[in-house]
Amino acid sequence: MNNFEPGCTDIDESGLISVKDALSRILSDVPVIQGYERLNIEKARGRTLYEPVIAAINVPAFTNSAVDGYALCSSGLPVQGECRLEIGGRAFAGIPYNGEIKSGQCLRIMTGAPVPEGLDVVIMQEHVVNKDNAILIDARHQAGQNIRKAGEDIQQGQTILQTGKYLTPPDIGLMASLGIAEINVTRRLKVAIASTGNEVFSLGAAPGAGGIYDSNHYSLLTALDRPGVDVINLGILEDEPASLLKSFHEASDYADVIISTGGVSAGEADYTKTALQASGQVEFWKVALKPGRPLAFGKLNHAAFFGLPGNPVAVMVTFYQFVMPALEKMSGTNNKPIAPVFLAKASASLRKKPGRTEILRGIIEQDERGDWLVKSTGQQGSGILSSMSLANAFIILDHESPSIKAGEWVKVQPFAGLL
Ligand code: AMP
Ligand code: MG
Repeated sequence: MNNFEPGCTDIDESGLISVKDALSRILSDVPVIQGYERLNIEKARGRTLYEPVIAAINVPAFTNSAVDGYALCSSGLPVQGECRLEIGGRAFAGIPYNGEIKSGQCLRIMTGAPVPEGLDVVIMQEHVVNKDNAILIDARHQAGQNIRKAGEDIQQGQTILQTGKYLTPPDIGLMASLGIAEINVTRRLKVAIASTGNEVFSLGAAPGAGGIYDSNHYSLLTALDRPGVDVINLGILEDEPASLLKSFHEASDYADVIISTGGVSAGEADYTKTALQASGQVEFWKVALKPGRPLAFGKLNHAAFFGLPGNPVAVMVTFYQFVMPALEKMSGTNNKPIAPVFLAKASASLRKKPGRTEILRGIIEQDERGDWLVKSTGQQGSGILSSMSLANAFIILDHESPSIKAGEWVKVQPFAGLL
């Protein structure tokens, strides 16, 4: 965060910052965190590798048979016609054959069994005639066939996973194939979350007149329930500048990221703004985005601060558009599987104002041809959380995009892999 300098240059004459500029500002300001923890590999899914993984052995470790069949020396293969070979021994996966295979003989061998030195071809059992402890083979076979050579997958000394790798199940299996039981991964990100608002009540309390339940806490808590994140709950903070500032400063002593919701607009009761404006380290943006126009971003101590809007849908939209990419950068991950954005055909027209990004909640489905269709979930107000719950994708109408007519293509971002 050392390069964070308040004084935003990306804001246009109308006082708005585009989604693209806001995101690039955020991504250039947040740091990659330092520090690691050691984990058993089975706990490492979704974590970030802190150091490269170097193969200490070959994989496969020994040359072995790819099929059930018969191994022999290629010099014994017939050039034409057939030849008869006596079965001189048997090798199984885990039970090598240590005897000798003489000229005129072959070795009965099962998949995964070591191929002894001197034998260089394996013939599938389906391609031989087996009779009286001997086989008949024909002339269609070649040296090297059906043999998995030592090191053909991974060679000893090879860097097999790079620092920053987002660890997936095949990576975990790959490490196991190298005999690696523990690895160093980037430590967890400490993310503190707070709700603000005198009208906001926790579950179990009885909101009086004008009171509402704290839904933002639960949507954020569960959105953050992912590998590599530890959530610290700051609870519901009172709309009072001094106590807000105190809570945020305390959190900034130990958190990498602080996320608050509410209080960042320009209303008389937007105390998050009042409290933090004076600190000089947090900026209050009007993002050209619907929903999610007011957004605070900056740092407190060493913590990145995100002041999200209060409306529940705006919280979700700004979290996935701005906070998630920042968390990914901070964790050092450099190749997380891509959550795709693709084009779907609008089933009905979609109204859009020029000069801002609009993110609608939509339902995508495939037609008989396999084309993707999308429709809006209906009411799109930033307080209508059911519009998000009904949806399976965001509909992204970019800054420059005009209104969309039925049958036109629009960008969609499925929730699968994102939420
Ligand atoms: P604010 O930005 O603080 O003015 O909040 C905007 C709207 O979001 C208001 O209607 C708030 O009551 C509502 N809101 C704020 N915080 C929460 C919360 N934690 N859970 C549900 N709604 C909230
Ligand atoms: Mg408020």
